[in-house]
Amino acid sequence: MDVRDAPWQRRLAEHAETRRAAGLWRSRPTLAVDEPLIDFAGNDYLGLARDPRLAEAQAEGARRFGAGARASHLVSGHLTVHETLEQRLAELTGRPRALLFSTGYMANLGTLQALCDRHCRVFQDRLNHASLLDGTQLAGSPSRRFHHRDLDDLDALLARVPGEAPRLVVSDGVFSMDGDTADIGGLATTCRRHRAWLMVDDAHGLGVLGEHGDGCVGRAHGMEEVPVLVGTLGKALGSAGAFVAGSEALIEHLIQFARPYVYTTAQPPGVAAATLAALDILESEPERRTRLQERIDRFRREARRLGLPLGASTTPIQPVVLGDSERVMRWAARLGDQGLRVGAIRAPTVPHGEARLRITLSAAHGDDALDALLEALATCAREEMA
Ligand SMILES: *Cc1c(COP(=O)(O)O)cnc(C)c1O
Repeated sequence: MDVRDAPWQRRLAEHAETRRAAGLWRSRPTLAVDEPLIDFAGNDYLGLARDPRLAEAQAEGARRFGAGARASHLVSGHLTVHETLEQRLAELTGRPRALLFSTGYMANLGTLQALCDRHCRVFQDRLNHASLLDGTQLAGSPSRRFHHRDLDDLDALLARVPGEAPRLVVSDGVFSMDGDTADIGGLATTCRRHRAWLMVDDAHGLGVLGEHGDGCVGRAHGMEEVPVLVGTLGKALGSAGAFVAGSEALIEHLIQFARPYVYTTAQPPGVAAATLAALDILESEPERRTRLQERIDRFRREARRLGLPLGASTTPIQPVVLGDSERVMRWAARLGDQGLRVGAIRAPTVPHGEARLRITLSAAHGDDALDALLEALATCAREEMA
């Protein structure tokens, strides 16, 4: 059979053409170690991803336990380093237990699939991460999206749920493309009123927000407020993986029923060891969070002076919403010419007409890096927003 004539080939070509015609074709930059661009696109908020102590811990973990875990957690892949990490994550977030997943995407799929079925009702903030939306699909639960951060809308939707159907409200802690923060206390109150559980995915808050870097939920909002807490380890913690923290019963339920937990090889032990090193640094070097906050404050102050359309974010995620996707690509290219990499985010990641530069700040950025960014943005603004 000639593959070029196959219906599959035609199908692929059609999808490609639609996406290209919309100006939304994406490609992956391949980065070398000596990549000259200053990175304002990553999620390495504390500058830990390239910290030699994490690399050393990862190497040592691999030497001790092996490069791979060899099996899934329930078979023979659950090693002492995983167990220790779970205990540390439970302590950090002030929960009795935590369960390690290989990625945040899998943590969200697994949690929603294990908790919910077609008898449940799931309510999601409109701007929630794709993995949360996909998790609801996997669970097969009827779901509704409420307006972004709109507690009244959520309240009205919850009021319409018939009878005793279990309700789960799901929200990002820090919204990944906007950088604004969910009102955790408000969500918890609304949930209590309707006897709903609250699940918060604090992927971008963990390590950055909270008195101890424990995120926007953490110890400030206990289990009675947020029974299901998800955190990821590949962002501020500079490593990889994710976890769910909560009650003994919740964690045991996930171990029994979360298919994306059960049917996958455990995380490489070196990665867990690197995360443990990151947690040590989070504790011993709180000045990283202070430095990050200084960068954020300075960026916002000066970008506002330039008249850039900033969002309401006070987190390291600073969107500059330019609207038009071609304009976003143009600005990103010009910044690239100046040696600066920023995220160029278009539909379908964000709604049509809300394309944006996604600029992320890190404690690792020096003053000169921030100077260069602000200067390049000033040039773009002068030429295009006059
Ligand atoms: C990045 C992200 C995830 C996915 O985490 P990974 O570990 O990268 O798979 C989940 N939720 C949110 C809100 C995220 O920003």
